[in-house]
Amino acid sequence: MREPASNIIWNMTRKCNFRCEYCYFPHDNTPVTLTLPVDRIRAFLDATGREWTVGMTGGEPFIYPGFVDICVALTEDHRIGVDTNLSVSSKVREFARRIDPARVQDLYVALHIKERERVKGVAAFIDNARLLIDSGFTVIVNYVVHPDLEARFQADREFFATHGIPVTPRPFRGEHQGRRYPEAYGDRARAIFADHPEQGRKVAFNFQGVPCHAGRTLLRMDEDGTVYRCPGDKTVLGNVLDKVRLLDGPQPCARPRCPCRGLDHVVLDDARRKLVEGVQFAVVGDLDASAAAFDRALDLAPGHPCAENNLGVIALRRGDMVGAARRFAAALKARPHKAAYGENLDMARAGGRHHDPELCLDVNPAAEK
Ligand code: SF4
Ligand code: SF4
Repeated sequence: MREPASNIIWNMTRKCNFRCEYCYFPHDNTPVTLTLPVDRIRAFLDATGREWTVGMTGGEPFIYPGFVDICVALTEDHRIGVDTNLSVSSKVREFARRIDPARVQDLYVALHIKERERVKGVAAFIDNARLLIDSGFTVIVNYVVHPDLEARFQADREFFATHGIPVTPRPFRGEHQGRRYPEAYGDRARAIFADHPEQGRKVAFNFQGVPCHAGRTLLRMDEDGTVYRCPGDKTVLGNVLDKVRLLDGPQPCARPRCPCRGLDHVVLDDARRKLVEGVQFAVVGDLDASAAAFDRALDLAPGHPCAENNLGVIALRRGDMVGAARRFAAALKARPHKAAYGENLDMARAGGRHHDPELCLDVNPAAEK
């Protein structure tokens, strides 16, 4: 079994100079004082004998003391990625001048449009994004399609395109008005994502019980140097300031939600892979490809309740209430306690869609037995 490429997500700080409405971090723009010596991080990474990609994220990484020096040090033997709001213009210019684009996997630039407008920073955003693009960096400008921003997304995308800045819609993940996103997106949002099938990869699946390389090829490091198995599993493996003991190989996932990047590290058999694909197609509105993937998952794992439920969701979206009810009933029979299946069944029997039926993201329901 080939190991996936090695990634460590470094949560450098929770502080940020922005205060986006939908952000779940405390809005704290005081100076960052808790810092890690980069030579200790390098020593830990080098000792594994592998090349790592260090995903630097926050809060806002560019407000971290000596941020560009740290990037220079890490990119000597490893690669980096950065999540940024691109607002600290002087540091962005220094980054563009000193860092080799070939050592940077991706710059994920978040375009928080309401916050940008609040701080009158739209023009600076355009200048900074253009500088990085023109300097040869791979810049991915993400626009979180919060339900409140759905209506203006297309106009915003066209505006930034006139400046040569392609904008990628990114699914909002979280609760809004009692509904969980991105699963609860309606037709308008799905149309936005239809041209971006890669965004279907952002769904937070439940891989409980499925073997995963995280803890060896995927790690999370906190601001104090503590190293965890992954962003979703807070099992402590050590601290870069002391010792870190990585797992030897794939171990079952212990968490009910895989928040990010797990897909590259989890070990899926064919049935589970088809189930995952089906959900990804469904989220971006490709119903035919989604149904084909769920059908195949059922061929490979007959009676899989999640595949049954999700075929019910597809049938309901197509207006086939009878077919949908049959699927939901089959799913509910296999997992009578799963409330979402029952709610979907009630919706199909009532013959209408008051809201979107819920997709099942449980790749391995056997783990709950
Ligand atoms: S830029 Fe990112 S970290 Fe900062 S407030 Fe906005 S969402 Fe939160
Ligand atoms: S599947 Fe996701 S949450 Fe589970 S161990 Fe792997 S990366 Fe972590």
